[in-house]
Amino acid sequence: MKDSNFLKENNARHFWHPMTSPEDSMTEPPKIIVSSEGVRIRDIDGHDTVDAVGGLWNVNLGYSCQPVKDAISSQLQTLPYYSTFRGTSNDAAIELSYELAQFFAPDGLSRAFFTSGGSDSIETALRLARQYHKLRAEPGRTKFLSLKKGYHGTHMGAASVNGNANFRAAYEPLMPGCFHIPAPYTYRNPFNETDPAKLAQLCANALEDEIAFQGAHTIAAMVIEPILGAGGVIVPHPSFAPMVQEICNRHGILLITDEVITAYGRTGAWTGARLWGIKPDMMATAKAITNGFFPFGAVMLGDRMIDAFEGNPAAKIGHGYTYSGHPVGAAAALACLAETKRLNVVENAAARGTQIYEGCKALMEKHEIIGDVRGGHGLMTAIELVSDRATKKPIDGARAGVVQDVAYQNGAMVRVSGPNIILSPPLVLTQADADVILSALDVGLAAA
Ligand code: PMP
Repeated sequence: MKDSNFLKENNARHFWHPMTSPEDSMTEPPKIIVSSEGVRIRDIDGHDTVDAVGGLWNVNLGYSCQPVKDAISSQLQTLPYYSTFRGTSNDAAIELSYELAQFFAPDGLSRAFFTSGGSDSIETALRLARQYHKLRAEPGRTKFLSLKKGYHGTHMGAASVNGNANFRAAYEPLMPGCFHIPAPYTYRNPFNETDPAKLAQLCANALEDEIAFQGAHTIAAMVIEPILGAGGVIVPHPSFAPMVQEICNRHGILLITDEVITAYGRTGAWTGARLWGIKPDMMATAKAITNGFFPFGAVMLGDRMIDAFEGNPAAKIGHGYTYSGHPVGAAAALACLAETKRLNVVENAAARGTQIYEGCKALMEKHEIIGDVRGGHGLMTAIELVSDRATKKPIDGARAGVVQDVAYQNGAMVRVSGPNIILSPPLVLTQADADVILSALDVGLAAA
């Protein structure tokens, strides 16, 4: 490895980072992470911290998960790459499609389309939704609905269904025909409704209104995150997703769940769809599918899609990626799935999730700067920071940065996303690790 000065200088000089400005990378140089073990990461200056971000919501099994590393190295020896475009397949991807069909059977999903990550998975679902309606002689169904504050990735289609201006404005015009419904976000919403069940109903009514306004015959699909992640861990009332499903079904609109974060156990349920008792037509997954060790994703498909595409020679899928079904990614995913099931990570995610959620609520008693704490379903928790609790005035970015920096100095890497501190540690977290996160956060909040 090059020395620390070389790395710091050249990071500033040559490396444009995602989701930040080149200028910020110079004035606030990133921490250079050089190694990891278990749930901990170590930077080039020797700080060793519990990774409360879990990579980027993806390292569910921690950094040491040997079976996944072994699967990757052994697949690299036998078949490091081959395409799965028409005419060729590979054993790892076939076995994975079989295993995923078993895993997602309770969600009513039994076919897999492989991708290289979350944005790819969303893009795939959007495109297959349009094709589905064309195959069924309803070519006018081209529009998409999604939730404000939702995050679905960065490709043009995915960005178009994003519900946060930060990921849209600079890239407009985006794809026409995408419309956004208010999110069931009790802390701030246009209805000033704080009761979660009533708010869920108001948002469902807004969805009905938008469908009536657009005309159901123009709408292809609705995309929802079962729990909104990057938007600040917005947990809808349990009635919300079933209402969305019923409305979509009634209007012939496909339901896509974006489970790039929620699939594979993070919410304390195996999928977000199972958490809320819904059956989507498509489910976009990525991230934890390979524990973050290889860029990979899978869109799972249900009966409506199967009926429209299978047995129809005209249903040619003019879509796919060089890395769709990559054998190394597929081998990593197979090992991950086996470990995920063997370790039964949902149980620990639920237990540690409750510990962190309750711990954050206790911190709220102590720190005026906390306006809201959200979570309670597995290891997805957010603390929303405010400069004034009474007016809910959002905190300025610099103060949120202090929380992060001081927490880091005190043993935990946490993530700042807008006014939110987001906690999404690996699902193999121990009680002691969770205590480290909470006490580091306590010191960080006191310092801000
Ligand atoms: N959907 C959701 C819910 C996500 O959280 C993300 C990434 N954070 C994406 C899609 C996009 O995934 P990727 O960054 O792998 O393209």
